[in-house]
Amino acid sequence: KVIGAAVLLMDRTEVWRLERVRQDFVANVSHELRTPIAAIRGWSETLATGEFGMTDFAKEQVLTINRHAERLTALVNDLLTLARAESVGLQGRLVEVRLRVLIDEVLTHFAEEIESKQMRVTVSVAAEVERIHTEPRALEYVLRNLIENAVKYSLDEGEVFITAEVRKKGRLRLSVRDTGQGIDKQHLPRLFERFYRVDKGRSRAVGGTGLGLAIVKHFAQALGGDVKVYSEVGEGSEFVVRLPRESWEVQPNVAAVPGGVGAA
Ligand code: ADP
Repeated sequence: KVIGAAVLLMDRTEVWRLERVRQDFVANVSHELRTPIAAIRGWSETLATGEFGMTDFAKEQVLTINRHAERLTALVNDLLTLARAESVGLQGRLVEVRLRVLIDEVLTHFAEEIESKQMRVTVSVAAEVERIHTEPRALEYVLRNLIENAVKYSLDEGEVFITAEVRKKGRLRLSVRDTGQGIDKQHLPRLFERFYRVDKGRSRAVGGTGLGLAIVKHFAQALGGDVKVYSEVGEGSEFVVRLPRESWEVQPNVAAVPGGVGAA
């Protein structure tokens, strides 16, 4: 027997406004930083060529400036991507994407590191998800970041398995698994937070910004799904993106992208 109901109404306008101000601020600062950083990068590169008659010691210092400017560029680019993902969500159109082509394309960016570490990569895409309906840039970012981490945090002769399959209720399960160093359980709940790193020194040494997984989480949600991590220290890690059927299934009236990726 229902005897009553309680309704709670909250005005969230101010909270949203402040959130918006924060996002705009981060996006503007990142944008403004781009030009001076590009100048520092460019000039340090030119100076390091030695054309201006510098000593070896001075050249070494200039190369250090260049390396740091490159790190700043990566950081600013990631901050901008995150700010955009948070404030406007997906920017491109949803189109038909050939998943296997996209994965292979992403893998070419890491071919050198995979080769030099003598790693083995196995890709398996189920027939039902050979073509999916999605926003290619967001999905490419997600795959790129997860694959980059799998390679980066693996030792020599490690293995990476990239799998796309359909699970219960038509859910697409996209998994990137490695046999690398793994992550201690205590870190897992905070792993997708901005700037959260398990080992700051190591992450910096391998060129990480600490923002990759935060962006992955935002894009996975913007694509209509979520992302989870499973890991054991010394055994490896698995990152799983799950997309419900309605957010990936090809609709008959959706335009196809020739070649599959990145064209939108
Ligand atoms: P980063 O730019 O530092 O790689 P991410 O947000 O991509 O930042 O990842 C956050 C942290 O999670 C990393 O610093 C690393 O410690 C850990 N991590 C991410 N992926 C893996 C992986 N495949 N194996 C082990 N550790 C990982």
